[in-house]
Amino acid sequence: MSDRVRVYELARELGFANKEMIDLLVAEGIDVRSHASTIEPEFADVVRERVIARRQLEAKGKVRPKAGPVVLAEIVRPPPPAVVVPAPAAPPPPVPAPAEPAAPAPAEATVEEAEVPVVDEAKELHLKPPITVRDLAEALGRKPNELIGELFTMNVFAAINQVLDADLVEQICARHGVSFIRERRERAKVRIKPVIEGQAPVRERTGREKPRPPVVAFMGHVDHGKTSLQDRIRNTAVAAGEAGGITQHIGASVIHVEGQTLTLLDTPGHEAFTAMRARGANATDIAVLVVAADDGVMPQTIEAYNHAKAANVAIVVAMNKMDLPNANPDRVRLGLQQLGLLLEDWGGETAVVPVSALTGDGVDDLLDRLLLEAEMLELNADPDAPCEALIIEAQLETGMGPTASVLVRNGTLHVGDVMLCGHYYGRAKALIDHLGKRITMAGPSTPVKVLGLSGVPQAGDILVTCEGEREARQTATEREAQSRQGELGGARKVSLEDLFRQMEEESRQELKLIVKADVRGSVEAIMDSIARIKSDKIRVNAIHSGVGEINENDIALAAASDALIMGFHVRAMPGVNRIAKQAGVEIRLYGIIYELLGQLEEAMRGRLRPEHRETAIGKAQIIQVFELSKSGKVCGCRVDTGAVRVGANAKVFREGELIYSGQVASLRRFKDDVREVRSGVECGIRLDNFEDFLVGDMIEVFELTEVTPQL
Ligand code: GDP
Repeated sequence: MSDRVRVYELARELGFANKEMIDLLVAEGIDVRSHASTIEPEFADVVRERVIARRQLEAKGKVRPKAGPVVLAEIVRPPPPAVVVPAPAAPPPPVPAPAEPAAPAPAEATVEEAEVPVVDEAKELHLKPPITVRDLAEALGRKPNELIGELFTMNVFAAINQVLDADLVEQICARHGVSFIRERRERAKVRIKPVIEGQAPVRERTGREKPRPPVVAFMGHVDHGKTSLQDRIRNTAVAAGEAGGITQHIGASVIHVEGQTLTLLDTPGHEAFTAMRARGANATDIAVLVVAADDGVMPQTIEAYNHAKAANVAIVVAMNKMDLPNANPDRVRLGLQQLGLLLEDWGGETAVVPVSALTGDGVDDLLDRLLLEAEMLELNADPDAPCEALIIEAQLETGMGPTASVLVRNGTLHVGDVMLCGHYYGRAKALIDHLGKRITMAGPSTPVKVLGLSGVPQAGDILVTCEGEREARQTATEREAQSRQGELGGARKVSLEDLFRQMEEESRQELKLIVKADVRGSVEAIMDSIARIKSDKIRVNAIHSGVGEINENDIALAAASDALIMGFHVRAMPGVNRIAKQAGVEIRLYGIIYELLGQLEEAMRGRLRPEHRETAIGKAQIIQVFELSKSGKVCGCRVDTGAVRVGANAKVFREGELIYSGQVASLRRFKDDVREVRSGVECGIRLDNFEDFLVGDMIEVFELTEVTPQL
């Protein structure tokens, strides 16, 4: 608070009357009521710079009335500028504005440069919406923060990644003396964003990759409008004359926007999304987190967010029901921020798009944003590669046999292709698209219903095409035999060995955890205590925590992420234990927090590889080496300390250097084989796989004991 600047102080500093200062700030969209109000220091800095710059220019007689951005000094003197300024998109952020808007380039330079229009040869600027501040700045040959400064003078507080609407772009272009020509977007690389971790395609690049449409899933709390929003988007496409048939339910649909294609996955909830991921398939590129503006962030919003985050997909927030009088966007934003989302409005990366599925307002913005995200993700696939598709859903249909709705991820699926999916195979007899039309082929990101498999696969299974039917049948049969064996041996999704192998790959091991408790206070207390468990070897990653019973979604998430579920004062919903068992997910329930924490530490130790400690049991010195014609070399030794035992571990040292580590194979006293020889006694020792003895070598014998690893 102490950093905020009082209006009267700023007025005094800049030589304005309080009233003039207040008018000026209000005109700039800064909410001040009286001379005692305070403003963000960043805003004060920008105001200072602009006022000073304006005065310098006035002094040099450089300011021309029409050219250049609207400047503050004019605002305080009537008449106000004739520029039509849009209302600020959002109230000033409650958190301090990020560095960009706070630090515009020196104001003098901005104003001067702004007066020199960017003269494009044809004085035309061709841009494809959505256009962000960065895009426009680049196109105008300006620095992004100069443009942010200019927008500030237009009462628009924009972050660098903010998408500007076309009218505003037009106004800015006009100020720079160029005309804005809105172009239709064709997929192209405008900006490069680092590929989101985990999204890098696993398959090898062929060099023939082409852009593919994004696959979008809608997620969020029940009744927040996921279905309505998707319906609205589809109807918009239908209204635009895109559709030509009756929509078929194939688990996904395709829509066309501004010449671009989007695939919408009909997720009944995020369980399908996570169930697919549990089977190793990430069908989704972008998750639209739908949050009702009148209701805010709710338990399933958190759940959905955690699921999307765990899958590493891009997230766009659709703030729905903006038409309602009790819509409270600020509360939604705050809730999202508390979830850990870095909102674009407040300097982060995640867009929050206000929409109304009821009126259709904002739906175009949402679509534009999805296209922008898709562009940044640079989604590619090779249409000529062998086809790889993901089963979205599958069933047995009368008259059609097994049918599977698949989403093509790479390559192209043609009618007549030989398919292999789990332990089913067959030739693609027919392909039916989301409008019920028979098609002959389906390329990347296309959802299509396929007929011809020998059985009904499961959602999340991968379908691939093969060269010949015989090969497909053979692999299918082998897989079936394997899966039978698996069933007999007790199905477990991830074996302990797999888990260890996987963990070994990470330098520091991790225990993924889902915590469910009866009340928020308990969740917080548990999470707090977990955060305080310190270990250099293993960390706890609580991928989800929430209030309420353990449900199927928790199991799906746990299965997908190999997580352990801990419940405190809650039970598992009916039937959930069975599902957990099938999925190989462990649920532990507690009534006492300390017990939960104690067992968690135990589980952490359990996930660490066991540690071994060497306990010395004896030492012997080699005093003679015998060559036995039949059984190789044996050394004659004297046991100096402790004892030497058959089967114990042994190390041989020569002049203090370790030359062998193995086991004692046998011991002899005179002609007898013995199990143990104690100190002070001479004996013959044979070591496992080692005969290179020399007189004077030392044999150290020890036992390995397993000790519980320390955290
Ligand atoms: P879902 O459970 O998330 O799929 O939510 P639905 O799409 O079924 O919507 C739940 C309820 O909210 C329905 O009664 C919708 O009519 C209503 N609804 C959805 N979107 C809006 C909206 O933008 N404005 C208003 N006022 N109501 C909406």
